[in-house]
Amino acid sequence: MSFIFGLLGGLLGIILAVVILIFIVYISVQRFVGGVNLRDLFRVAKNVKDIQRQEYSREKEVNGMTKIYEPRIIEDFGDFNKELLYNVVEKGLTSIFNSIENKSMKYIKENKDLKLLEPEMEEFINDIKNREVDISYDAIKFHKHAIKKYERMDGMATVTVSSTVEYYYKNSEAKNDYSDIKKQTRYTTKFVYIYDDQKLDPSKISFAINCPNCGAPLKSVGAGECAYCGTYVEPVNLKSWKMLSYKEDYD
Ligand SMILES: [Zn+2]
Repeated sequence: MSFIFGLLGGLLGIILAVVILIFIVYISVQRFVGGVNLRDLFRVAKNVKDIQRQEYSREKEVNGMTKIYEPRIIEDFGDFNKELLYNVVEKGLTSIFNSIENKSMKYIKENKDLKLLEPEMEEFINDIKNREVDISYDAIKFHKHAIKKYERMDGMATVTVSSTVEYYYKNSEAKNDYSDIKKQTRYTTKFVYIYDDQKLDPSKISFAINCPNCGAPLKSVGAGECAYCGTYVEPVNLKSWKMLSYKEDYD
């Protein structure tokens, strides 16, 4: 019997200790928060949400240094015209958005400038198709572009472009649905121009051109015959700016 009482006593002690602890925490929180009541806290939370919504529809600034990079590119490529490249950015991203929205490679395959992005996009589109994710981009409008980076080495040159764009965006997987307001965002796209494929350093090439017949990566960017199935692959004209990657740069 005395054992049970001992146990109960111990238990009561623990409960008392916990109650005192909770009381101390309550007092500290009260002092820290001050006079703020629960309704004010909700108002703050709502304000954060309003700020997020405002930020969502505030036009972004392009992130680049065209004045520094443009003359360097022109020095290496006399016929370089940034407006033409910006046009490739707009058409390329629009083809990508259309392909994602329709879950079809059609729009990407119709755009020669996206040749190097095909394997990666095919994987992405198959994934959203399998998971039945619906994504849409409506009323797409581009604002400004700027050159963010330029590099040239080992037979190839890369140009990185920053672009601002707006659209109505809907994603069945998104946590916050802002599809009623127009999203203002920014993209970074990277382009490659191979001016001498003999000088290319294979360890520095991040892209692969796949055989349209068996899907195997082709050993040479100059194409020719597939080493696996022997299919003749038409060479891709890499003496033009091809999109290598694209990334949304919202923050
Ligand atoms: Zn093949």
